[in-house]
Amino acid sequence: MPNVSNRLRTLNGSGSDGWEILYKSRAMIAAGTPVTELTIGEHDIGTDPAILDAMQTSAANGHTGYATVPGITELRAEVAKRVSDRTGVTTTPDNVLITPGGQSALFSAHMAACNPGDTALYIDPYYATYPGTLRAAGALPHGIQTKPNNAFHPTREDLNAAPDAASLLLNSPNNPTGTVYNQSTWDSIADFVQTRDLWLISDEVYDSQVWDDAHVSPRSLPDMAERTLVIGSMSKSFAMTGSRIGWIIAPEDTIGSLIDLATTTTYGVPGYIQDAALWALQNSSGLEAKIAQPFHRRRDLVLNLLETSNTIRCIPPRGAMYMMLDISSTGLSGADFADRLLEERHIAVMPGESFGQAAAGHIRVALTVSDDKLAAAITELAGFAQEVCEKAT
Ligand code: PLP
Repeated sequence: MPNVSNRLRTLNGSGSDGWEILYKSRAMIAAGTPVTELTIGEHDIGTDPAILDAMQTSAANGHTGYATVPGITELRAEVAKRVSDRTGVTTTPDNVLITPGGQSALFSAHMAACNPGDTALYIDPYYATYPGTLRAAGALPHGIQTKPNNAFHPTREDLNAAPDAASLLLNSPNNPTGTVYNQSTWDSIADFVQTRDLWLISDEVYDSQVWDDAHVSPRSLPDMAERTLVIGSMSKSFAMTGSRIGWIIAPEDTIGSLIDLATTTTYGVPGYIQDAALWALQNSSGLEAKIAQPFHRRRDLVLNLLETSNTIRCIPPRGAMYMMLDISSTGLSGADFADRLLEERHIAVMPGESFGQAAAGHIRVALTVSDDKLAAAITELAGFAQEVCEKAT
């Protein structure tokens, strides 16, 4: 019998894809045990009915055949307008490729940035698919560890210690930490990638979920547009996770090469999904803010609940739909804490270690259940952490 390629068998490095707790909690739910799931970045609301109407109308009107591979002209233009308006960088439809979600865009961007065997840098903690995505594109992933006491920002020293590479991937607002980079972090990142002549791959899928300041896209920094590939998505901003629609913003000639890749891989995105995305971008003003608002409110709720906790520390997140909690005072690893919390209290959270070594001793909580459910789960979680500490002393 032929073997599966080494490339696929080694995609997840050590063998773990980081989602074991999620699979275990899904199995418990299937077996009839109620579990409060604070695991994946899936909203507790569905896609807005008006967007679904636009999708249905488009399909009913016959937009069910092959759509043009780079994306329909109107959507590329609308995305270009959104990016120009939000960042001040002139962006044309020729700078836009429509992709089946941000995940596919991440893979394609690395295919454009890296030759086989090149090192691709990324910031740790990181979104769990990153190392596998970079391997899938033929690159060698190398994580740059950041520190909780620096709010998980990469310092210039952290960056300087990285080996020679072709690209640097980063994500602000960040999953899993909720970190949003400040100007001095951006300045040192821009200087680093220019000095090393790297591509910067900027994953901005949480650009509509920034609490304290405005979102900064590094493509707008001086001399950065020519070396920055921006990953965008409708998943988080418009609660369209299942529709699989996103984009890459890149220099025109790079988009040309990415269209060649799309022709040989995805062959584009369904036309009725693109029409729904176009409708959402053009007509649902205020919806993005409305979708983001509960995560801001729930962040404050959790911060209040944990204010007096002696066992759990938290760096207040400044964006995205997650919180990273430091549970190291319990003496448990993030993985053991998450496993016991699921077994003993039926609450599912992600171990920090699923997102890299920099997040060891932490757990990630997704703010994706109702306020009441979240408050009850956090109270239970804090009680569990306290109990573990007391038993250990
Ligand atoms: N990038 C980050 C940081 C994410 O958290 C996610 C999804 O959770 C993605 C990319 C992929 O999003 P999409 O649904 O657009 O593929």
